Parts: sequence; C-alpha cells; structure tokens
Amino acid sequence: MEGDLIEELDVSLEATLAQLRGEATIDVLKVQQAIIRATHQFMFERGLVQVMPLMLSPITDPLNHGVVDAAISYAGCRWSLTKSMIFHKQLALLNPDLEALYIVSPNVRLEFADRAFTGRHLFEFTQVDFEFRDKEGAFVRSFMEDLLRYLFAAVQRDLPEVLAKYRPQGLCQIGELEIFRTEDLEAQYGPEYEHVKSKEALLPFWLLNHRREFYDKEDPTKPGTYLNYDLIWPEGFGEGLSGAERENEYHQIRKRMEETGANQEAFKHYLEVAKKGLPHSAGAGFGVERMARFICRVKDINDVALFQRRPGMPALF
Ligand code: ASP
Ligand code: MG
Repeated sequence: MEGDLIEELDVSLEATLAQLRGEATIDVLKVQQAIIRATHQFMFERGLVQVMPLMLSPITDPLNHGVVDAAISYAGCRWSLTKSMIFHKQLALLNPDLEALYIVSPNVRLEFADRAFTGRHLFEFTQVDFEFRDKEGAFVRSFMEDLLRYLFAAVQRDLPEVLAKYRPQGLCQIGELEIFRTEDLEAQYGPEYEHVKSKEALLPFWLLNHRREFYDKEDPTKPGTYLNYDLIWPEGFGEGLSGAERENEYHQIRKRMEETGANQEAFKHYLEVAKKGLPHSAGAGFGVERMARFICRVKDINDVALFQRRPGMPALF
C-alpha cells in the first residue's frame, strides 16, 4: 500500500513548481488569511488573550494515535516538536489574570503514510487553539458557533469574488448546531459513522464522546464516556475541530494516564503541578487549512498547499 502511494505521487521539480504556480492555491491562501484576520478580531472582542506559539517542548500532546516521533536533544533535555499546545493552555491558566486565551499554533504531527490520501491530513498544519478557565463544553461549543458565524460573514464580506467561484450559493448559515454522540451514530451507521454522517450532512454538527487522550475529562456521571466534542464539517469534509473539558485532578489524571498508557515519567513535572492544583478548564482547536478546504470545497488539502506536507511522503522544499 505504502509503496503504491509513493509511486502515485509526483515529487519532481516540475510538479512542485506547477503546484507553487497553481491559481486555486492563492484563493485558498486568501481564505486562510481572512480566517486568521477575523479570528484575531473576534478573540480580541471576546477578551481572549493571545499567547505566542511554542514549537519545542519537553512535553506535548500524546495524541490518540501513533505518529513518527519528532524529537531532538538540546541543553541536556529531550524536546518534542509540539503536536498541540494543550498542556501549555492548561498551565497558562494558572496565571490568575488570564481567564481565556488563544494561540495560532503550528503543529507537527508526522502521520504515517496511510493518511497520505485522506484529503484532510498535512504533517504540519496550523490550528487556532483556545481555552477558558472554569467553563464547560456547552460554553465552548456555543463560543465556536459564534466564531464560525463571524468568520463566515468575514469571508463573505472580504472575498466575494473567491466565494463566487467555489460556493456561488454562499456559505451555510450557522445557528445552534445539531449534536450527536459517537455511540449512537456508530449503532446507526457502523464503524465508518463519522464519514457517512459527514457526507450526508448539509450543516456542520457536533460529535460528542470520543475515546481519546488522557486530558479529555471522563464524565463523572457516566464513567467510560468523555466530555469531549468534535466539530464535523458537512459534505464529507470530516473533522474540523476537537476539544474537551479537561481532567484537572491529580488522581483522575493518573488514572487516565494508566488507561491510555501515557509515559508518566515524561509528564512528571506536569503531574507535580496537577498535585498542587490545575485550573478547571475547557477549550478546543480548529484546523485553519481544514476550514479553508471546506470553504473552498477542495478535495485534497495537499492540492492547495503551496508546499505539500503529505503524510509519509517526501517533498523538495
Ligand atoms: N487542540 C485540541 C484541544 O484543545 C486538541 C488537538 O489539538 O487535537 O483539545
Ligand atoms: Mg481531533
């Protein structure tokens, strides 16, 4: 399989230059720019403080699936390229003057080649990651719906000529989005439930309760289920955001780490902080390239990157 995929992919200099010169690429870049510009404005209006991104850290998101390890040794320490800044978001909220924050965060996730042609994976990408102290999932979901409304309006206002090309009917109206649970959809549609439901949906929707990383809070009223949520794009575009209420109590974090097999030694300083008390928080992060892909109806996210970052595949630049 992997060999076949590599053979299919043209990484010649000509193909690379053709990609750089593609017209659609610039349209998508403009949409990404409009998203980021409006995101900053919205966050400012809502009082979220911007934290600058970090690309290297002794701890990073363990993710809920395997990727190639991207780590270096420096200053007597082992540093990983950040897969997300989830732990930094929690730690930043220890500052009593910070109640809500966001980060435009470059993430490196060296996915395996089986994700090369999913249409929605780049091995490095940018997410807008945000977190609120003392808030719950419902608050974050409603915040994201407001943000989406704001962003779609901004794209429609700022880039009418681009939108006319890719979505002549305009972008969908965002109201209160429908909420589903993974276990219900799985019972109805089988193991490919997320993809099937995304394909038949006309509006983005929420999908609750994924079995995932140890930092997503277990529902205390229903152990074995989790207070997390994904925003799923319609028309088959799939996952666009992940988020959760967080585990912040030491014993519960330890229990969840044992369940997920996390390396507790690597997280020893984080655990020390948790023992002293981590704030209760909830948040989420959306992929910027994936949002632009949905807006411009691009089949393969790598087709509109100026520089391809296709999982498991080489690139010239
Ligand atoms: N940023 C996401 C969150 O806040 C996690 C992720 O990056 O997948 O939960
Ligand atoms: Mg996710």
